[in-house]
Amino acid sequence: MKVTDHIKNGNGKTQFSFEILPPLKGENIQSIFNNIDPLMEFKPPFIDVTYHREEYVYKELENGLLQKKVVRKRPGTVGICAAIKNKYNVDAIPHILCGGFTKEDTENFLIDLGFLGIDNVMALRGDAVKSETYFTAEKEGHNYASGLVSQISDLNKGLYLDGELQNSTPSNFCIGVAGYPEKHMEAPSIDSDIHFLKKKIKNGATYIVTQMFFDNEKYFQFVNKCRSEGITVPIIPGLKPLATRKQLNLIPHRFKVDLPDDLIREVINCKDNKSVREIGVEWCIEQSKDLVKKGVPFLHYYSMGKSDNIKAIASEIF
Ligand code: FAD
Repeated sequence: MKVTDHIKNGNGKTQFSFEILPPLKGENIQSIFNNIDPLMEFKPPFIDVTYHREEYVYKELENGLLQKKVVRKRPGTVGICAAIKNKYNVDAIPHILCGGFTKEDTENFLIDLGFLGIDNVMALRGDAVKSETYFTAEKEGHNYASGLVSQISDLNKGLYLDGELQNSTPSNFCIGVAGYPEKHMEAPSIDSDIHFLKKKIKNGATYIVTQMFFDNEKYFQFVNKCRSEGITVPIIPGLKPLATRKQLNLIPHRFKVDLPDDLIREVINCKDNKSVREIGVEWCIEQSKDLVKKGVPFLHYYSMGKSDNIKAIASEIF
């Protein structure tokens, strides 16, 4: 079922959903199930599965030269989605990227999803490859998520890249896209970022999931700004409980997201990461309660492969 239908069926009640990462290459899928199992009691109508593009690693050879290798450390997004649907009978939402994909690759990926009965996709540009500063699209790929959304919308109309295909079956994907309450790191301003977010909606996306935020005001201001710009689709808040002291610096650095001073102070006063984890859970519970009060359709948690803190939060909310 489509995310937008899950929202309609919720009749205004806030529902629970979460995102998982595929395991590192070589790990068993059981590690995924072990993290999902404890969260199923909160009845998530859908689970997102991230997509991880290739990275370049450099191996030092005996002669001192470096050999460049292309590796994907977390493959398996589509297989995990199929396994989740099969095992738990809930919708699984694969993330799909512009990065590393030609339009042809994208079309074939979507065809696989259609055959598996997957009817939601989260369409993203992806970041630059780790060793590079700027995002570079494949020669025959999309530069921005808005182009990817257009391609998926075209497929929903039965328009394949090969315009001469006879009797082609239209796909039926509900398309989600990313939104950034504190603006995307590359955007020159929030207004510019929302301008391009609107383009993704115009091209066919029907819901937005936000980047993590730790101050709900940032989310509410973002929603108000989107509404005043004419974006009417549901805007699902994405939440991540802080779990380690290191993240105080890592999260602002990697995601360009601010942390509130009260939270920073509490974390600095913690003796160890166990206490940081507890503070992170408490903070996220307060954020969640406030968001539920304001009637958000879903609370979408970034589990980062660990479910104990998400379970502790969900137990207080759902
Ligand atoms: P876009 O919407 O294309 O925007 C990228 C930047 O370009 C923005 O600054 C935007 O303002 C600007 N822009 C857009 N269109 C134009 C235009 N026409 N001209 C000029 N500027 C433009 N990454 C992964 O690798 N795998 C994942 O599974 C994944 N899941 C995510 C899930 C969520 C909910 C979120 C919020 C992010 C996720 N990401 C993931 C990270 C995401 O890929 C990065 O944040 C990426 O840098 C931007 O992706 P986007 O889809 O928002 O890009």
